[in-house]
Amino acid sequence: MSDSAPRAAWRFHSHAYFDHAAPERVEEARAFRELIRRTFAASPHIDVRAFHAAPAGPHPRGSFEVLFTRETFADYVPWLMFARPAALDILVHPLTRSQVLDHTARALWLGTPLSLDRSMLEAEDARSLEAHPASKNAYLSS
Ligand code: ZN
Repeated sequence: MSDSAPRAAWRFHSHAYFDHAAPERVEEARAFRELIRRTFAASPHIDVRAFHAAPAGPHPRGSFEVLFTRETFADYVPWLMFARPAALDILVHPLTRSQVLDHTARALWLGTPLSLDRSMLEAEDARSLEAHPASKNAYLSS
């Protein structure tokens, strides 16, 4: 890993988005979440998180989140590329001190990129800077 990639970027999220108004899409997303859980059940580096049947936080659609680490990135992300149902759009982003950068410049998408609520991400970053003002430089690099 190059020096420009901060050590903090060893953890990632994937967010799978679906049309929460279409019952068959919600079912498909639940089934895909279960497939991820089963497929990676033996890995200590993947944590399948809560299912949101409606938009939540900055996320514009129903979604579910998976937390994973660098150790499993090369297994999980290519698996997503091939296993993703066509109707699911998936955001993959690192977890650093800047929610805005993580969800924009540093993000990758499988499927069609969606617009997240940037103002909520900016508010998160402002809260984080307020809580840890000494980390302002680290905020920009990591
Ligand atoms: Zn996330």
